[in-house]
Amino acid sequence: MTRIIDLIGNTPLLRLDGPSQATGCEILGKAEFLNPGGSVKDRTALALVRDAQERGLLKPGGTIVEGTAGNTGIGLALVGGALGFPVTIVMPRTQSPAKKDALLAAGARVIEVDPAPYTSEHHFIHISRRLAEQTPGAFWANQFDNPANKAFHAATTGVEIWEQTGGRIDGFVASAGTGGSLAGIAQALRARKPAVTIALADPAGGALYSYYTTGELKPEGSSITEGIGVGRITGQLDGLSVERAYRIEDGEFLPILFDLVEREGLSLGGSAGVNIAGAMRLARELGPGKTIVTLLCDAGSRYANRLYNADYLRARNLPVPPWVESGAPLSA
Ligand code: PMP
Repeated sequence: MTRIIDLIGNTPLLRLDGPSQATGCEILGKAEFLNPGGSVKDRTALALVRDAQERGLLKPGGTIVEGTAGNTGIGLALVGGALGFPVTIVMPRTQSPAKKDALLAAGARVIEVDPAPYTSEHHFIHISRRLAEQTPGAFWANQFDNPANKAFHAATTGVEIWEQTGGRIDGFVASAGTGGSLAGIAQALRARKPAVTIALADPAGGALYSYYTTGELKPEGSSITEGIGVGRITGQLDGLSVERAYRIEDGEFLPILFDLVEREGLSLGGSAGVNIAGAMRLARELGPGKTIVTLLCDAGSRYANRLYNADYLRARNLPVPPWVESGAPLSA
């Protein structure tokens, strides 16, 4: 019999026709939005919980605690529920009500705290760590620095990409939230093909583009993307080198996302947009005939009120989906 957590991973690799035609390369996207919790972070959640069980850090009755407003919380709630562990998520009050609702719907207990900078002890991630320390039997998942995150991506996502391309892969591009997927997949691919090109796609507002191009962590600009664009070298990113780095503005990836919806029936989230825009940049640099893989981290429905909302986009001077723009009512 299949259990819900057996459905995590082994996602299909999709050919993205428009981006492939536009660049003369094969641009392939790993359909991580098909994981049962709806994102690539189900893998991270399973990795952190399994590893904690194996190392005796999480025993029956123990609570899983994490500071996250996003997909990792949904993944942890799902994995915790399936394996019999309650999940407590600490998040800043500033997050959209939709995020809190999604966490509650997934089965998480949610604690909202006042927003604070990462350097303050009141930052939600530090609060989550102290909560775990003070709760008997609790386990702090720590997705940013727990090595099980990257290791699981190396062992699953990276190996799957290698096998699904039959080793015919010239480049891999991804953005980074914790960096676990980028670093883990890079490790698996380089072990099998040292000449593979690994590229970072950083949203505006992230500090990694400047880090990989100048050595300095310097955030510049801002982005409407969520879950990506880090300001520090996390444990996952420690020691990672990349051959190329791109800064992707919102105005660059939004039209790519809208084209995928209209022409390929594929509705994706903003980080997937940044990833595909990065894959297209790498394709143009490497030249026609190459195979480039990226991650389709989650689906557009999670961002219906932002990425695909005309008022939200117009207020920020961003491109609006053409079918929304020209959405005249049908006359009978
Ligand atoms: N896209 C989305 C939508 C995410 O939530 C995340 C994780 N925060 C990422 C991409 C990045 O994944 P990773 O943590 O492996 O860098």
